[in-house]
Amino acid sequence: VYTSNIYSGTRADLISKIKQAVSSKRFQHILGVEKSAIDLAQKNNYSLEKASIAALVHDYAKERTDQEFKEAILKFNLSSDLLNWNNFIWHGVVGAEFIKTELGIEDEEILNAVRRHTVGDIEMTTLDQIVYVADYIEEGRDFPGVKEARLIAAENLKAAVSFETKHTLQFLMENNKVIYPAAILTYNQWVAGK
Ligand code: GDP
Ligand code: FE
Ligand code: FE
Ligand code: FE
Repeated sequence: VYTSNIYSGTRADLISKIKQAVSSKRFQHILGVEKSAIDLAQKNNYSLEKASIAALVHDYAKERTDQEFKEAILKFNLSSDLLNWNNFIWHGVVGAEFIKTELGIEDEEILNAVRRHTVGDIEMTTLDQIVYVADYIEEGRDFPGVKEARLIAAENLKAAVSFETKHTLQFLMENNKVIYPAAILTYNQWVAGK
């Protein structure tokens, strides 16, 4: 049972809503992110309940169609530049609007953590950092560097944000992927320290 009034139901209610919205593979990822987020919250003296809710909803909208996202960008008057991007950027920034309207979660700290979970931001709250890092290190992730990321995260949350930002950008560049401009701003702040 959640004691805050961020979500109107129990954790079990929230979980059943999320389970309905995504594939079983993604649902397992989401539970892994929740576990990691709670662990990071504990280590960083942050609310376990907020960490749990933010982690459970972070990929809520990941499996919506491009068409749904485009309609939502117009409906919620979000920046029209978003129309030039795709699911990887929409599921957080636009996904937050689905979380608000469909799940009734209006807590801006939680919604911002969802908005920032894919590319981060210049300024990131403790909750933003927790979700960003938990998404990267959850137990189901398996990529070169994930073990090191977990070790760093266990010691120092900000250092883990830096590590993740650098390695994600490196990975994208090695694969000739387009870099979302805001990801460069995150890099400048968290990796280059500028
Ligand atoms: P997930 O939703 O749990 O799969 O994880 P994320 O929300 O962190 O990332 C979604 C996808 O976006 C991943 O495949 C990332 O590698 C990718 N991604 C993150 N930043 C960028 C970027 O700047 N450019 C591109 N092309 N992809 C990115
Ligand atoms: Fe995501
Ligand atoms: Fe991520
Ligand atoms: Fe995720």
